Amino acid sequence: MMSLAESGSSIETRDLGKVAIIGAGVAGCAAAIRFAQRGAKVTLFERSVFPREKVCGCCLGAAGLAALDAIGAGESVRDLGLPTKFFRGYFQVTKASSAVTQMVGEKASRVPPVRIPIREGIALSRAELDQHLLTLAIEAGVEVRQPCEATIVAESDKSVSIDIGTGSPEAFDLMVVAAGLTGRFRQRDVADLRWVETPNGPMGLSAHMSRDDANQIDWILESGEIQMHCGHDGYVGIVCLPNGNLDIAAAVHPGKKGASGEGVGRMAIQMQTLALLLDSGLFDSSQSRKLEHWFAEAARWQTTPPLRRRRVSGRGRVVAIGDAAGYVEPLTGEGMTWGIESGLVVADLWALYRLGQMTPNGEADFGANWDRRAVKFQTRRRHLCRWVTGMVRYRPARWLACHGLRRAHWLATPFTRSLANGPRFDATSSIHRTAMSFADASLRTHVSS
Ligand SMILES: Cc1cc2nc3c(=O)[nH]c(=O)nc-3n(C[C@H](O)[C@H](O)[C@H](O)COP(=O)(O)OP(=O)(O)OC[C@H]3O[C@@H](n4cnc5c(N)ncnc54)[C@H](O)[C@@H]3O)c2cc1C
Repeated sequence: MMSLAESGSSIETRDLGKVAIIGAGVAGCAAAIRFAQRGAKVTLFERSVFPREKVCGCCLGAAGLAALDAIGAGESVRDLGLPTKFFRGYFQVTKASSAVTQMVGEKASRVPPVRIPIREGIALSRAELDQHLLTLAIEAGVEVRQPCEATIVAESDKSVSIDIGTGSPEAFDLMVVAAGLTGRFRQRDVADLRWVETPNGPMGLSAHMSRDDANQIDWILESGEIQMHCGHDGYVGIVCLPNGNLDIAAAVHPGKKGASGEGVGRMAIQMQTLALLLDSGLFDSSQSRKLEHWFAEAARWQTTPPLRRRRVSGRGRVVAIGDAAGYVEPLTGEGMTWGIESGLVVADLWALYRLGQMTPNGEADFGANWDRRAVKFQTRRRHLCRWVTGMVRYRPARWLACHGLRRAHWLATPFTRSLANGPRFDATSSIHRTAMSFADASLRTHVSS
């Protein structure tokens, strides 16, 4: 497999002008590396100090790793991560308990879990992954400005300008917004990338449980296990990180009364998360008490706003990628993959524009064109994820999944295989070969055999 430097030196490069990227999450870093490898002068703006954690299930699957291979980052990311090999799913098939306190001390319903193998994946904390990708971006020649919050202050047919609070705006040929779910990236009087679907649906939260705390509760995951607890109010995913800590990440639907009676709010979604875990029947009463104590006293939760959303993902010389463009739901752990893939595709398409291969109205048309094409190469997988996350909210569907998959886990194979197959990126190919394949067929999906 190729190193970053090798892949950077072997792909076709052109003068791609000045590109600004707002946000150094996985999408922003992957885009920055690809743009730099293609010959752009890239500046990456990140408002947080790294390393930083963020709400995430920390699982990166086969398609995401394949996309990282194309920019020479796959091998080192695999080295840092812990391999994941299968999902162990606990499905709530009886009516959920109404209060956590009722469950503690009682034996929750025990439904045997299902085990579903996956093709390839790793678990890695976002602090480590994002820091590593940022380091690779710097190696690829990207200029990084951090910590600094970037704001789009002006746009024209010729350029787009951002300010980082200095009062001296800087002009770029292209602005890539990779600012995630919570990024603010434009001044009030600058036109927004409007919402197609305003934020709604479940809210995300996550925390890390130390190896010692997990041992105390006797919550030990098998090697390669991604544990999932699915119920009506949402789902919780747990994975062991390379340092032995557990990453606990949940997406739960707000708007209902929480287990302890609170309405919408941080506390309510924490209690719903605890209820999902206890309802699965994995924990006996002593473990349940310890887990409840950890939730109340030790856990440091990070939360997100409502997750489901989609916006117009391009206009003029501004394009959005990753969570900034839209979000389905994280049940299957596809968010990072989609962000990385869109970072690579947007760089290759921009290269075509700069070569004059796709210029009905010149570069000023790029954003609108990206908006038409952006989601198309992931449509099938996005629909699949939305369908699955919708289905697991229904008790009969969970019952079917639980009983069907326990007897025949291969029933899930078309689904896991479909998610593992993303577009085929070639590390060494010409701009034409890689980008025209997307452009000609409106970014049709290239499913590897
Ligand atoms: C509960 C939950 C579990 C999940 N589990 C998984 C999983 O297991 N696997 C998976 O693949 N995905 C998972 N996801 C999804 C995944 O976390 C996201 O899809 C992914 O982080 C998106 O990456 P991004 O680069 O678009 O955004 P982010 O990673 O959010 O990065 C955005 C960056 O932009 C910066 N920023 C924002 N505004 C500005 C500004 N104005 N100037 C400068 N910097 C700015 C932020 O500081 C941040 O660093 C999960 C999500 C949730 C909520």
